[in-house]
Formats: sequence, structure tokens, C-alpha cells
Amino acid sequence: MLQKVKIVIRGVVQGVGFRPFIYRLATQLNIKGWIINSSQGVFIEAEAERELLDIFISRIKSDKPKNSYIQSFENTWLDTEGFSNFEIRNSLEEGSKTALVLPDISTCKDCLGEIFDPANRRYLYPFTNCTNCGPRFSIIDDLPYDRANTTMGEFEMCDECRAEYTNPLDRRFHAEPTACPVCGPQVSLTDETGNILFEKHDAVLNAVKVIKEGKILALKGIGGYQLLCDASNDAAVKELRKRKRRSEKPFALMFHDLESILIEADVNEAEKGLLLSVEAPIVLLKRKKGIASGISDECIFGNPYLGIMLPYSPLHHILMKELGIPVVATSGNISEEPICINEEQAYIKLGDIADYFLVHNRKILRHVDDSILRISAGNEVMIRRARGYAPLPLVLENIENNTILAAGAHLKNTIALNKGSNVFVSQHIGDLENTESINAYKNVINDIKTFYELKPDIAVCDMHPDYISAKFSDSLNIPKYKVQHHYAHVLSCMAENRLDENVLGVSWDGTGYGTDGTIWGGEFIVPNGNEFKRAGYFKTFRLPGGESAIQDVWKIGYSLLYEVFGKEADKLDFLQPAGQPEMKIIQQMLEKNINSPVTSSCGRLFDGISAITGIKQHASFEAQAAMELEFTADDFNTNDYFAFSIDEFKGSLVFNWHNIIRDIVNDLKAGVPAGLISAKFHNTLAELIVQMAERLRFEKVLLTGGCFMNYYLLNRAVKRLQETGFKPYTQQRVPAGDGGISLGQIKYASYLKF
Ligand code: ZN
Ligand code: ZN
Ligand code: FE
Repeated sequence: MLQKVKIVIRGVVQGVGFRPFIYRLATQLNIKGWIINSSQGVFIEAEAERELLDIFISRIKSDKPKNSYIQSFENTWLDTEGFSNFEIRNSLEEGSKTALVLPDISTCKDCLGEIFDPANRRYLYPFTNCTNCGPRFSIIDDLPYDRANTTMGEFEMCDECRAEYTNPLDRRFHAEPTACPVCGPQVSLTDETGNILFEKHDAVLNAVKVIKEGKILALKGIGGYQLLCDASNDAAVKELRKRKRRSEKPFALMFHDLESILIEADVNEAEKGLLLSVEAPIVLLKRKKGIASGISDECIFGNPYLGIMLPYSPLHHILMKELGIPVVATSGNISEEPICINEEQAYIKLGDIADYFLVHNRKILRHVDDSILRISAGNEVMIRRARGYAPLPLVLENIENNTILAAGAHLKNTIALNKGSNVFVSQHIGDLENTESINAYKNVINDIKTFYELKPDIAVCDMHPDYISAKFSDSLNIPKYKVQHHYAHVLSCMAENRLDENVLGVSWDGTGYGTDGTIWGGEFIVPNGNEFKRAGYFKTFRLPGGESAIQDVWKIGYSLLYEVFGKEADKLDFLQPAGQPEMKIIQQMLEKNINSPVTSSCGRLFDGISAITGIKQHASFEAQAAMELEFTADDFNTNDYFAFSIDEFKGSLVFNWHNIIRDIVNDLKAGVPAGLISAKFHNTLAELIVQMAERLRFEKVLLTGGCFMNYYLLNRAVKRLQETGFKPYTQQRVPAGDGGISLGQIKYASYLKF
């Protein structure tokens, strides 16, 4: 099938023969399209069969001109246009050059060579960098990007460094954070109160020693602190969980090299590319089955995926090389606060968690978490967008005349601001549920405003009356527009795929405030500029106990059974282990309609079914029950699905899932494995999407919202839509979850008339 990919490459890609190289490669592979230079980097649009495009992408990276260097490589799959040849287009004249704040870039090969060369003056120096690599976003105070405007400003260059820095022929010519052991920052190992125990390379060696002894290390990394411990050591990982009060949420891992990853996980070419990319994110990889794993199950609790990254800074490289074993590398924070970025916070917040601290004296100005991605059907899927990606802009039309502040959602918040058509979507900020996160939220807005000298003309926020993000925009005294949450998800997907009309938005997540004041979450939305029609939704049910049902998902399970069977639900004993004796109370709450808000949430339906099938009845974090339901489906290869009906109610189509619950109950009684039920349930939702697209007559179907982080659901829906002649579109550069909301809010502003 013919496809089109849009590629944006930033880095040293101008004046090094990049365009002729791309032209030759494209012609050789019979790829049509164009390439253009802009002040921001190189833009390519390429059309061909998918296989050829994959080769094209990998050969750009492997065969690029000698003096070029890629600092960021982003691709987005778009509708084809039918190009007839490949051409080099004239460079874009954009008046004044807009300098961009670059993300933090992983250590380049040349620098790595020096770090591990005993004859080099930067041998084992953990702050080695050059023009092609090193910290950026995390250390920049202001533009222009000069050393004085970074946290390296306080380190005076030695003569040798200065000679490199001022020599146009040197790799470190104007490498703003350049440093060496003589003049640059240094590391030290301290105890949990800040007493220095070892310095310089001894600090690293002793950090290695304590990790091997099963201790927990707080490491000051690039965009903040990480907590490290030996990933094979059950007791150490257990202790970290206990101290961090994180019961079952999977921990990310850092491996010392690719070979050791290949032992633990199945890794395809695209995943390998991502692991080794300049962005160096955490990649979700399928864990190998039936091997003697070196990873403690305490790290992931039966999760079939491992979140793995490779070392990306010199300090990580040196530490991991000495260690030679995989470690847990989780965020250095407490209870959903932003990660710590300075010693002052770290010793207070992490002092009770870590035994030792590997710190240094290069300041971090803002928190930038490790990004998380996965490959789904060959494409990148963004789960958390931060280090390596933020704050690079996405481009959007029809917003040029205004500066818009998008306040984002409440959980997994990001904000966005535009300058002309460049939309700066912030790094992942997190859940706005504590003072630290809210302060970080304000700082992130200020950062982007300061970098690009922006003064927002309007603010766009969520409709939810209690969202802190929405309240914050009140304080700005500028016109404020509210966008319904699920419409913002759809708009975000439209923005990425450059679509404006004639689309059906399938917007499924856990929670969002609906225009009728109820909780939505299983929506079929037909966009119409700054308005939309709720063309369909999941038949509603109630959440007894409101918010508490998100953890006690058995309550949702009971509510679903109660909707279908009424009081007879009591006779079904699937929820007994979790429910009794509270079950009676829940029943009364439902009967009398006490504290039982109505919802059409797809995510909560997942939770409830997870509980009914006995997979998970108490969740320790949001969406855990739904995720475990997904994972059990993995072992079952079936096309079966449950029968369901689509009702009509007041001009909307309502997905009636009652029959599904009946069938699930029958399956359970007949001893059908929960995993098979789960697979059938997932398949049913994919059929639902197809049927809705048929009934509502839309060819283009957008899949967005947190539920589409579900790998099984996303793949199944894409597959079934393609098989039945529809065109599925997914989120690519921003998360399908609430991290993508801010982009949708900016898109909303493009439809406003001023
Ligand atoms: Zn370098
Ligand atoms: Zn120096
Ligand atoms: Fe959402």
C-alpha cells in the first residue's frame, strides 16, 4: 500500500550535502516527494510502498553525509498526495531566524569514543559533550543559546576547552556546555544527608559498589533525579517499592547494552532504532517468555512488557559500563510529584528512599522526565513525551495571528503555547494534584513564554469546573475558551494527521467532563470546527462511591452486573472475594442513587469487566485493572466477539453493552478462561468502531484517548477498520492520553473567529 511519511530532521543537516544525499537515496529507492531546508532543519515528504519508506528512514540514519549530525528525527504518517517525482524545493525564507530550544540529546559516538579512550583528556569524564550532543533544554535559562544563558555559565573554560570552543574546525566549536575534567562540573557520592563520601571517578566506582550490594542510589541525571537499584535483586527492588510507596506500578529499567536487552526482550528493527536513537527514550518491549530472566518480577509484577532504556548521558554510560547489569531507573520523586532537580529538594524528598546519592554541581533548571514510547504496527506511539522530544514544536496552520495558551488536562498534564504556526507542546508535567506539580505547571508555562517572548492573547482550557489548569487560565485576564475533553482528544488527533473535516472521532478514556455535566469517556464525536456532535456514546452506568471506584474496581464490576441483572446480581459470586460485606452497601447506594455519578466511560467499563472476570478487583493505580485485562488477552488468538446492539436515543447512537455482560457471565459459568473473555471483549470494541463508522458513514476514523494506549485494542481496531475499507488515524507525536489534550486545545483555537 502506498504511504506518505513526513520527516523532520534537526541537527547539523545544512551545508553538509544533506539535500543531494536525500535526493539520491530517494531516486534510487524510487520514492516520490520533496525535501526542503528551513531555519528549523530539513523537512521531507516521501511517498512509496511502506517497505521502501522504512528502508529510506533507516538509510537516512545509517548512510547520512559524513559531517552531518542528527539531533532529532521525527516522522509522521500522513495521507498520500500522489507526487510524480522527487524534488529539492527552494529553501523557505522565514525572515528572522527562529532559534529553537533543542531537547537534551544523548551522547554521540565521538564523545563516547573519547570517554572510553585512556589516552584522551576526557577519559571517564561524565560531562563530556560536543555540538552534536549533550544537555540543552534542561540547562537553558534564556535564548539566545549561549553558554552564559546556561547553567554552564558559572564554569570558566580552561585554555584547552576555550581553544576547541573558538576553533571553527573543531567539533566543539561553540558547544555551549563543553567541559573537561580540569574546568567542568564534577560528581560526588554522598550519604542520604549530603555528607560527601567519595569524589570524581571514585564516586562512580563506589556508586557501582553500593548498587551491587543491594542499596538504593539516587542519581542526578539530565532532567532530574532517578532512583537506581539492581534489577535482579528481589529484596532491593522490594525495598525501593516500600520506601517509594509504589506498590505495583512497573519500574523502568536501564540496561548497559543492546545485547543484554536482546536476552530479555523481543526487539524488532524499529524498536532497536528507537532504543539507539538520539532521543534515547524508554521503549516498551515484549518480555521473552520461558527464559531464565535476570530481571526480578518485583520490577514489573507480571506485566508482559519491559520499559527499557539505554544509557544516554556520559555519567550513565560510565556507571552502566562499570555495573554491567540492568538496573531499575525510576523517577526520583515521591507520590506523583515532579522529579527532583536539585540537591536541596532531593535530600529532603528522597532522603528516606535512597541510601546514597550520586550528585554533581551542574545545575538542572527544569524537570524533564524520561520519555516513553512503544512501536505499534511499525509506528512510534508516544506514551510520555519529555526528554529528547520536548520542547520541539509541531506545526499547525490557521493559528498564526494569535498566541494561544492551552492549559491542558488535569492528569498527565502538558501545556502548549504557539508562536506563529509553531506549537510548543511542553514536556510531561504530571498530575496537577499537589503543590509541587502546580508550581512546576506554572514554571513550565513561564519557561516557554520567556524563551519565545510570548504574550498569550487567549487561553483554551478544559470544561471541567474543578480543573486547576482551567482555573489557572482565569487568573491571566485574557479571553478564555473551554473545550470539551473528548473533543480536545479528537482535535489533537486531527492536528497530527492534518485533518479538518469529514472524520469520525473515537474518543475513549477514563474520565472527562461532558457538556451535560456527567462523566464521559466512551464517545463518538463528529467535529465541526469549534463545535461538535456527540454522535454516539457508551450506554451509561454508575460509579458507586465516585472517585473511589477507580481503585476499588470491584464496585464498578458490581454496578455493571446490577445494571443488567438488578438485585439478582447478588447471586453472582464473581466479586465475592473483594466485595463482601461492602457489597450490600454498594447495592443500596445504587438503589437509592447515592454518590453514584453516571458515566459513559470506556476505561471504567474495562475496569469493571476486569473485576467481574476476576483479573483485578483492587487497582493500586489508575487503569491498572484495565491494563491487566488487556495483558490476559495476549495469549488468545481469536476473532470471536460478543453480540451487542446499537440503540438510538435522542439522535445519538448508544452502544448497548448489556448483552456483553450477560455473555461474559455465561462464559464464566462455563469455565471459559478470563483471557479468552478479554480477547473477545477487545474484539467486540473493534467491531463496534467498524459498525459505528458504517452507520454514521465516515471513511476516516480517528482513534484517540487514553484507551488507545491499549496495544491490543489499538491494533485490533486499526486492523478491522482497514479490512472493512475504512481509514484509521492514530496519535503519533503526542500521547493518545491526556498528554495530548493541550495540542487539541490549540487546534480548537484555529476554528475561532476573532
Ligand atoms: Zn558529542
Ligand atoms: Zn576544560
Ligand atoms: Fe482523556
